[in-house]
Amino acid sequence: HARRLEGIDKNIWVEFTQLAADYKAVNLGQGFPDFSPPAFIQEAFCKAVGGGCTMHQYTRAFGHPPLVKILAKFFGRVLGRDIDPWEDILVTVGAYEALFCSFQALIDEGDEVIIIEPFFDCYQPMVKMAGGTAVYVPLRPVSSGMALSSADWILSPEELEGKFTPRTKAIVINTPNNPLGKVFQKEELQVIADLCVKHDVVCISDEVYEWLTYDGAKHVKIASLPGMWERTVTIGSAGKTFSATGWKVGWAVGPRRVMTHLKTVHQNSIYHSATAAQEAVAVGFQREYDCFGTKESYLKQLPEMLHHKRLRLAQCLQSVGLQPILPQGGYFMIADISSLSDAQDEPYDYRFVKWLIKEKGLATIPVSAFYSPEHQKDFQNYIRFCFVKENATLNAAEEILKQWN
Ligand code: PMP
Ligand code: GLN
Repeated sequence: HARRLEGIDKNIWVEFTQLAADYKAVNLGQGFPDFSPPAFIQEAFCKAVGGGCTMHQYTRAFGHPPLVKILAKFFGRVLGRDIDPWEDILVTVGAYEALFCSFQALIDEGDEVIIIEPFFDCYQPMVKMAGGTAVYVPLRPVSSGMALSSADWILSPEELEGKFTPRTKAIVINTPNNPLGKVFQKEELQVIADLCVKHDVVCISDEVYEWLTYDGAKHVKIASLPGMWERTVTIGSAGKTFSATGWKVGWAVGPRRVMTHLKTVHQNSIYHSATAAQEAVAVGFQREYDCFGTKESYLKQLPEMLHHKRLRLAQCLQSVGLQPILPQGGYFMIADISSLSDAQDEPYDYRFVKWLIKEKGLATIPVSAFYSPEHQKDFQNYIRFCFVKENATLNAAEEILKQWN
């Protein structure tokens, strides 16, 4: 095998999704909704599939024309700038491919990429496959035991600045964050932006949960800060936007001088994602464009629905003595399991999650999977719950947690 694959053969989703299936566990592990996407977008997909020959054939490599047009219009309005549908957007096979193309396009052997911990696990192997070196900087809880919200996890500006070197090519940010749920405030993003400008670094901004914020937290696009459009690749996901993770439609948006390189990777590897799925996502975005900000908008309804599920899971965890960190955004909530701690070889959270699946029939995800190998041992005391689930699923999880208590 190629050297670039060394040490990245294990994958948390492959391992724990299989385990959850084997034990038929109540699944609050992998992040996907166990409810259907909204009717309007399901209907759009059915219509696309039934809509004659063209929907079953290849479309434009860099994105189905109706989709790039509406994405440009939609995000142009959000960002308050003109976005060129033909130059500034690349439609990908999920946000995963947008990330992969970004690293392949921008990172050379020996380049450094700054990653903020905890991070969505694929960033590290993707940097490695591109020949780069990941450099980590942690979000730290303000004071241990007192951090009850994801807002209490802070990036130290001095520590961050200390990670920039002449070899730094890019920084990856993820807001709202997976697994913590932190929504970076404008001031926090400004610190990152200033360093990107000062050191001439590209920002890869993973915003797949951009519509899912709670309790008034506001999602800010780092590309909207002065001087940042020119050096930011913003990544999104129709899976997360429309609760259709299996469709695998994502995108990257950025200035043409950067996007042209992502397109080179894409045209020579993937070419494009399913035409009918892109068509349906285009219809979905057109609808959302037309009703933006109204109570009809799915992008408004979904976070309202998830807000309740989130509070409900938090209360349930609290009642059984698992202290949750209340997320400001996203699909997930992490909870402290240190009160139940013991000492053995495999990371405690991994063992705990396996025990929970096998013995109790409840699947979650160990949070140390979202840390670098160097720092994993310091973060074994949390597990991650996905609350984007039917109430029946949340009920079943609650029953399990209560009984065991
Ligand atoms: N980024 C983050 C932070 C994620 O949680 C995920 C997984 N949903 C992705 C990217 C990949 O998204 P997609 O399913 O669209 O490939
Ligand atoms: N992003 C989802 C999560 O964090 C799932 C990713 C995957 O299954 N590969 O749970």
